[in-house]
Amino acid sequence: MAYRALYRQYRPARFADVIGQEHITTTLKHQVSSDRPAHAYLFCGTRGTGKTTSARILARAVNCLSPEEGEPCGKCEACLITAAEGASDITEIDAASNNSVNDVRDLIENSQYAPLNLRRRVFIIDEVHMLSGAAFNALLKTLEEPPEHILFILATTEPQKLPATIISRCQRFDFHRLSITDIKSTLKSVLSQAGASIEDGGLTLIARAAQGGMRDALSLADQCLAFCGDVVTTKNVYDVLGSMEDSFLFEISKSLLASNAPEALRMLDSIMQAGRDLSVFAADLAAHFRALLLSKTCGRCEDLLDCTEDTMTRYLEQAKGASEARLMLALDRLIAAQNDMRYLPSPRALLESALVHICRPEDSVSLANIEARLDRLEAQIKEGLPAQAPAQQAVSPEPAKQTTVEAPVSQPAQKPEPTPAKAEPAQEAAPWTDLTPPPETWSPEDEYTLPPQEEIVKIAPKPDPVPAKAAHAPKPASKPSGSTDAAGIWREAIANIPNMFVQALAREAVALHFENNTLTVGFTDAQEMKHKSLNAPINFEPTQRALQAVKPDAKLVITTTKKAPASGQAEELAKALFGDKLTIE
Ligand SMILES: [Zn+2]
Repeated sequence: MAYRALYRQYRPARFADVIGQEHITTTLKHQVSSDRPAHAYLFCGTRGTGKTTSARILARAVNCLSPEEGEPCGKCEACLITAAEGASDITEIDAASNNSVNDVRDLIENSQYAPLNLRRRVFIIDEVHMLSGAAFNALLKTLEEPPEHILFILATTEPQKLPATIISRCQRFDFHRLSITDIKSTLKSVLSQAGASIEDGGLTLIARAAQGGMRDALSLADQCLAFCGDVVTTKNVYDVLGSMEDSFLFEISKSLLASNAPEALRMLDSIMQAGRDLSVFAADLAAHFRALLLSKTCGRCEDLLDCTEDTMTRYLEQAKGASEARLMLALDRLIAAQNDMRYLPSPRALLESALVHICRPEDSVSLANIEARLDRLEAQIKEGLPAQAPAQQAVSPEPAKQTTVEAPVSQPAQKPEPTPAKAEPAQEAAPWTDLTPPPETWSPEDEYTLPPQEEIVKIAPKPDPVPAKAAHAPKPASKPSGSTDAAGIWREAIANIPNMFVQALAREAVALHFENNTLTVGFTDAQEMKHKSLNAPINFEPTQRALQAVKPDAKLVITTTKKAPASGQAEELAKALFGDKLTIE
């Protein structure tokens, strides 16, 4: 027996044989049996769900001389004519290759003639979204006032690309993806007709890989038969489908989420070996992580993901083990890689790097993230948490309080009364190493309602943590806190500046050196205005006072420098906070 492709063998000739679309076929049968079909139909749905098949059955049914409950009888003269392929009154056009306005004009001109030997002329336009704008306009007129004897059936996988004016003139039907069960049972019957068989597990694999499309399922089964003969095992199917099927994506994302970079990279290599297009794979993987993210966020959402129930369950299962942030990171990475790959002749390294990054989320700390943490730290400092500020002793030198530290951290800023908070052993913690989150009640507005720095000082007297070189320290602290390097001192000083504006200004300056109790900070030439502004007495004095709160009697010198300012400093600061593992993006 000459081999015939399974999907050509599987040609439902009646609505009853169209699987999984009962919501559509029932309506169509009704319209046929009452002989009141619409003049234009729009069939939407992903590929292989039965749009064209249903269109052909409908074309025959509306012409059948004695339809049986809406089905073409298959015996009358009309049915015999339409059964022979190429009936002149039924025209099928693929809009993908005939999309010009001239193609549509020919078609419309054609439609003016009465049918040759059938009751109605039927035009089936496949992939109708591919028509040009002018072609749509030409078609629109005919759709508005169609001759009595003609019927249009438009089919598309992408209805969102159609003009609303076209959609509104058609009766629209949305074809569903087929369930795994439907595909499997159809496969089984088609295979047995062809005298072949595939193990049940193999059928499931095929049905999954086909993603709800019967045509894909049949051609995958065809491939298996071509490869293994008439009896196919589950392992055969796995070997044939190999990396091309869905479960590969589940496997590789499992490795990625388990931070198993070596395995993920090996899987990527197997894709390379199989000769697959890496950009297609990157897109597939990104789509997979999107599905995971959506199922994590929305729960069951087959409608959003356009997938089968079975696949949805698997997405949910996999997403369960990962955090939303982790999935977002992976998705972002893959989208970025996909985008950048277009510019590279061999994008492998880029994709590998993306995969490794996904495996190590802790390496990817964004600057925004750091900024957020810095803001919180600064807020903490302003609320009186820090353990520096030796000059505060000059303001309130109560020796008794030097043994315990009152930490007004947990007080809202609006309540400056010295509520004795829990004594916290915070004396050794420099603000830059203490990553305790700020109190829950903190909000950006609080910055503006903070009491003056002096008030904080009164309620939060601190023991002197900085003995420094200065002999002024009334009593050496057990352990020096605060930095001894210029950058560290400057950071602490900035944190002590009471005025937000001056603080922001000071942050632009780079600490150059701290010698002879003098801290020199610099602006670049390009920052001349800022340099002048910070040097103005109204800004300089609070800044110097803030410095002296860190280093008693220290002097501040503001100069110009060639060192990269601000951003470089932020980076340095971030590194101090998060260590050298940090990559700044
Ligand atoms: Zn008939």
